[in-house]
Amino acid sequence: AKWVYTFGDGKAEGKSAMRDLLGGKGANLAEMSNLGLPVPPGFTITTEVCTYYYDHGRQYPPELEGQVAAALEAVGSLTGRRFGDAESPLLVSVRSGARASMPGMMDTVLNLGLNDTTVAALARGAGDERFAYDSYRRFITMYSNVVLGVEHHSFEEVLERYKDDKGLTLDTDLGAADWKHLIGEYKALVKRELGEDFPQDPQAQLWGAIGAVFGSWMNPRANKYRELHNIPASWGTAVNVQAMVFGNMGETSATGVAFTRNPSTGEKALYGEFLINAQGEDVVAGIRTPQDITEAARLESGSDKPSMERAMPEVYAELVRIYGLLEHHYRDMQDMEFTVETGKLWMLQTRNGKRTAKAALRIAVELAAEGLITHEEAVGRVEPASLDQLLHPTIDPKAERRVIATGLPASPGAASGEIVFNSEEAEAAKKAERKVILVRVETSPEDIHGMHAAEGILTTRGGMTSHAAVVARGMGKPCVSGAGSIRVDYAARTLSVGGVTLKAGDRITIDGSNGQVMQGAVEMIEPEMSGDFAALMEWADAVRTMKVRTNAETPLDARTARKYGAEGIGLCRTEHMFFQEERIVAMREMILADDAEGRRAALAKLLPYQRQDFVELFTIMSGLPVTIRLLDPPLHEFLPHSDKEIGEVAAATGVQEDKVRRRMNELHEFNPMLGFRGCRLAILYPEIAEMQARAIFEAAVEAAQQTGTPIIAEVMVPLVFTRTEFDLVKARIDAMAQAVASETGSKVEYQVGTMIELPRAALRAGDIAQTAEFFSFGTNDLTQTTLGISRDDAGRFLGPYTQRGILAADPFVSIDQEGVGELVRLAAERGRAVRDTLKLGICGEHGGDPASIAFCQETGLDYVSCSPFRVPIARLAAAQAAL
Ligand code: PEP
Ligand code: MG
Repeated sequence: AKWVYTFGDGKAEGKSAMRDLLGGKGANLAEMSNLGLPVPPGFTITTEVCTYYYDHGRQYPPELEGQVAAALEAVGSLTGRRFGDAESPLLVSVRSGARASMPGMMDTVLNLGLNDTTVAALARGAGDERFAYDSYRRFITMYSNVVLGVEHHSFEEVLERYKDDKGLTLDTDLGAADWKHLIGEYKALVKRELGEDFPQDPQAQLWGAIGAVFGSWMNPRANKYRELHNIPASWGTAVNVQAMVFGNMGETSATGVAFTRNPSTGEKALYGEFLINAQGEDVVAGIRTPQDITEAARLESGSDKPSMERAMPEVYAELVRIYGLLEHHYRDMQDMEFTVETGKLWMLQTRNGKRTAKAALRIAVELAAEGLITHEEAVGRVEPASLDQLLHPTIDPKAERRVIATGLPASPGAASGEIVFNSEEAEAAKKAERKVILVRVETSPEDIHGMHAAEGILTTRGGMTSHAAVVARGMGKPCVSGAGSIRVDYAARTLSVGGVTLKAGDRITIDGSNGQVMQGAVEMIEPEMSGDFAALMEWADAVRTMKVRTNAETPLDARTARKYGAEGIGLCRTEHMFFQEERIVAMREMILADDAEGRRAALAKLLPYQRQDFVELFTIMSGLPVTIRLLDPPLHEFLPHSDKEIGEVAAATGVQEDKVRRRMNELHEFNPMLGFRGCRLAILYPEIAEMQARAIFEAAVEAAQQTGTPIIAEVMVPLVFTRTEFDLVKARIDAMAQAVASETGSKVEYQVGTMIELPRAALRAGDIAQTAEFFSFGTNDLTQTTLGISRDDAGRFLGPYTQRGILAADPFVSIDQEGVGELVRLAAERGRAVRDTLKLGICGEHGGDPASIAFCQETGLDYVSCSPFRVPIARLAAAQAAL
C-alpha cells in the first residue's frame, strides 16, 4: 500500500481534493507545488497510517519505513542535501495536518536533523554560526518538549537566568558563543530530567517526532477540540515532513502569516504580520511585536517598524502575486504561512481562512461581484446562524457612554432596559411589555425563561463559556458576562460599582460586543441591512423555495419581521394579547364568571381590543397571510399568584376574594401542559373562540377597507388530536364568518387549519386534513409530547443528556429528525394524500434553526415561521437547503 506522498519542485503526488487522505495541510502543500509555487519539498504520511497506528497497538505498517526513507532521499536530492549528512545535512520540519483544521491542538517540530555534527555543517554552509546554534537550541527545546515531554518553561528558566547573569534582555542580543553555552546547559537539563542523553541520531529524532504527531491526535486537548467541533476520531491526522527553510538567517530572512483579505472586516487587502530574522514559533509566542505587511496597515497601526512592503519590496511583490493566484485558484479568502530565507519567499501553508460573520458576508458578496464565485456559491459561503451577530442594534458611535463597568463581550449586540434581578421579574416585565436587562451573579438553567424575556443579560461572574454566555449566544441576545467589579445585592435589589448604586427598575445599557455596562439608556442604531447583507439576502431569496414567515403578535414584532423580509405571520399567539392592564381584568372576569352569559359579557369587553390588534397586524402584513391561533394556554395562567394580587383582582373584578381562591383551586392542574388548554377551551367555552373569530373577521373587513388589499386570514386551532375536535371548533368559526359577512356586507377570504402538535394528530393527519385547510407543525409541543420531556423542566437533565451523547442535540432547539421528524413526515404525507393543496408549515422554535430548516425542505413544507430576529437566518438557511 502507498502510505507516503511526495511534493516539491513544481509537482506532487497529491492534490487538494485528497484532503481526507493527506489532511488539509498536506493536500494544499501538494496543490501549491502543482501550481508551481515555491514550496519547500517534502512528503506527507497519510491519515490512513494514523488509523492503522491506532488499530494496531501503536505500530506502523511494515512498508512505512522504506517509503519514508525513499521520500527522504528524494527531498534530499531536490535540495542537494542528505538527511544526517555531516557535510550537507538536510533538516526537516515535522507537522500534523488533519482533514479539518485543528489550530494549535497537535504537535510540530522544526529544525529536525540537527545534532552536534550537523550543526557545525549548518554553520559552515550558512557562514553564520549564530544562526546555526540558535536553530539547534530551538530544536532541542521544541523536540524535548513535544517528543520527550520536558516542560518548556524549564528551558525558559535556564535562558532567563543566563540573560540576567550576562545583563542581556533580548534573545537577539545573544551570540553564537551564548547559544553554544546554553545548548550545553539544555542537554544537561534533558539528561537530568529523563536520565538519558538528547538523541543525536537523526533517524531516531525523525521517528520520535512522527510518533509524537500521531500520538498528539489522541491528546486530551485534541480530544476535547474534536468533541466540540464534531470531528470523528476515526479521521486521523497526517504527518508532513518538509525540508526546512530558515527565517532566522539574518536581516534578509523572515517568517509570517497573511490573509488575502481582512478576516475581521472582510476588506480586500493583504492583511497579516511578519518578523524579520525569526522562526514560526516566534510569531505565535508573541515575545517580539510583529511588523505589518502592507504600508497602508503600518500607517494605520502607527508602528515605527517598516512594513514588508518597504523592507522587502521584491518579496512583497512576490507575495502579492501568489496571493492573487491562490485566491483565484481556491476561489476563497486564504490564510497563508510563509518564510523568507535570505531574500527568497517560500510558502509553507495555505487554507481557507477563518473569519468573522461580518467578514464572511463581505467576502462572499465581493468574491461574487469579482466573478470568482456564483451568487449561489456566495449564498452557501455564509453560516446562517452567524447572521445573528449582524442583526442586533448597536450603540450609536456618536452617543455618550457612561460606562460603569466592563465585563466580557459574551454575546454580540447592545440592549437597554430596566434592571431586574431575577427571572420571574423579567418574565412579568415582558408580559407587561417592559424592556428589561436581567442582572444576575450568574445564571442557571432555571433562568432560561427570564433570559428569554429580557432584552439582554448581565452577569458578574463567569466567562465566555459560562451558562449565561452560551445560552445568550444561542438566543441571539446581547450578553455581558463576568463584570466582576459590580456587586449585586439581591436582598436590597441593587447593584453597585465604583460609587454608583442602581436599583431594580433603573435603566442600564449593555454592549455585548465589547463588554461595556453603561448607566441609562444609550442611543442605538439599527443594524445595517442594506449593502452586502441586502445583496446576499436577495440572492438567497432567488434560490429558496420555502417561504419564511414570522411568529409575532405585537405590531412592533410584526414590523421588525417585515423589515427582515418575513412573508407573513405563521403564528400569532393570541394569549399574549391579554396581559396588558385593562385586558387582564376583563380576562379574569371572564374566567371568574359563573356561566356562559357571564363569560360573554366579559368577552365583549375584550372584543374591541382584540379587533384592533388584528387590524394592525393585517395592515402591517397587507397582502401577506396571517395565521391567528385561538387561545391556547390553560386559564389559570391568567390568574394571580400572591395574596396581594388576589386582593387586587377581587377589587378590580368585583368578585369576592373567597371566590377568586375557589376558582383558582378549581383550575389548578397537576400537568398544565396536558391539561385544560388548546382547542379543549374552545370546545367547552365556545364563546371564547367565537369572540376571537368575530374579532378576526371584523378586523379583516376593516383592514381590507383601509388598505384596499384583500386580507389573507388563516384561523388556527391549537392542540387538536382528533378531527372531531377540529370540526366542532371549525363550525363555530365558519358560523361567525357568515354572521360577520351578513352584518358588514363584506365577505372575507379565510382558511381554517390546525396545529399538528400532538402525536395522535400526526398519526390521524389523514382524517384531519379532510376538513383542515392547513397544518402548522407545533414542534415545541410535539417534541414535548413525543419525547415525554416537559418543555419547562428539561433544563436540568438535557444538558447532561447532550454532553453524554444520549441526545445529539437539544431537541427543543434542533428538531429530533428520527423521532419527532418521522411524525412530521408521516403527517405531511397522510395529510397531502387526502388534500393535495394542504398548506404545510412549522411554527415551533425549530422554524429558525438551520438544521431543522433543512429537514423542513426535505419534508416538503411550504414555509417555516420563526421569531423576527431569526427571519434572515431562516431565509439564508432555506436557500442553502434548496441549493
Ligand atoms: C408549538 O407547540 O410548537 C407552538 C408553536 O406552540 P406554543 O409554543 O405556543 O405551544
Ligand atoms: Mg403548542
